[in-house]
Amino acid sequence: MLVPDRYAVFGNPIAHSLSPIIHTNFAKQTHQFIGYEKILVPLDKFKETVHAFFLNGGRGLNITLPFKLEAFELCEELTDRAHNAKAVNTIKFNLGKILGDNTDGIGLVRDIQQNHHIPLQNKSILLLGSGGAARGAILALVQLNPSKLIIANRTATKAIELAKEFALEGRGFSELENDSYDIIINATSASLYGESIPLKGSVIRQDSFCYDMFYTKKTIPFLQWAQERGAKTADGLGMLVEQAAESFYLWRNIMPDTKPVIQLLRKHLQL
Ligand code: NDP
Repeated sequence: MLVPDRYAVFGNPIAHSLSPIIHTNFAKQTHQFIGYEKILVPLDKFKETVHAFFLNGGRGLNITLPFKLEAFELCEELTDRAHNAKAVNTIKFNLGKILGDNTDGIGLVRDIQQNHHIPLQNKSILLLGSGGAARGAILALVQLNPSKLIIANRTATKAIELAKEFALEGRGFSELENDSYDIIINATSASLYGESIPLKGSVIRQDSFCYDMFYTKKTIPFLQWAQERGAKTADGLGMLVEQAAESFYLWRNIMPDTKPVIQLLRKHLQL
């Protein structure tokens, strides 16, 4: 009997994960014979669970909170983007070695450029946040040659340190005074807590594009703030699907069509 190639997402908690729906749809669309599970990994058993998965014939993993850093440390080989992000969200069992990648940044820029038709080249970009999601986005943004890329964070010192790694400028929110931006990307977890970001109205214009990496049925305060100022906005559901597509490509060497899956999830989540 033919056995499907085995993939999974590891996280804790994991019940909410949409990855099985996404990858099952990608596999159907591209005629790939795979199985995809979600696995709740005990907080102190990440390493053992990864090794057991691969010993039992597993081919690849997605890694979500809170294990992206541990995954980075465990991998024997890293892509450049995982190395820069210092975090791994995709693992492939590659010729007996554990290869780590980070597809969040490419997922973000593909969603903005291809799905929302907003070019990033030569644009001034304000990136809010200095955690894992912001870190994962920086290299992909820098590679598109924006005219300016500023990183701002609630804790200013973290933004300054992170920006320095990429020869960029970092600031606290209150130090964003004199400039407005073409693109503002919220990579903080403020929206997760239903909180807004204390930004001055001068950073945004009517022709700005504001993107929040979070997605929810509820109002996202940052996007509401942007809409009240006439700006175009988007949530992070497309990024979720695009980063998954890049993982799928790493594993199967075939790129799925993301649009029908984004539509399906919007319907499923009633977004
Ligand atoms: P981290 O915990 O690593 O970082 C959190 C960041 O948010 C820090 O910069 C922190 O600032 C800031 N922050 C937290 N609360 C507030 C607040 N109330 N006001 C302002 N800033 C705040 O989280 P991640 O980077 O992993 O995730 C950030 C967001 O990105 C989450 O909403 C997550 O769901 C989303 N995400 C979406 C993805 C997608 O595919 N769509 C992929 C990955 C992440 P400080 O340093 O001051 O604490």
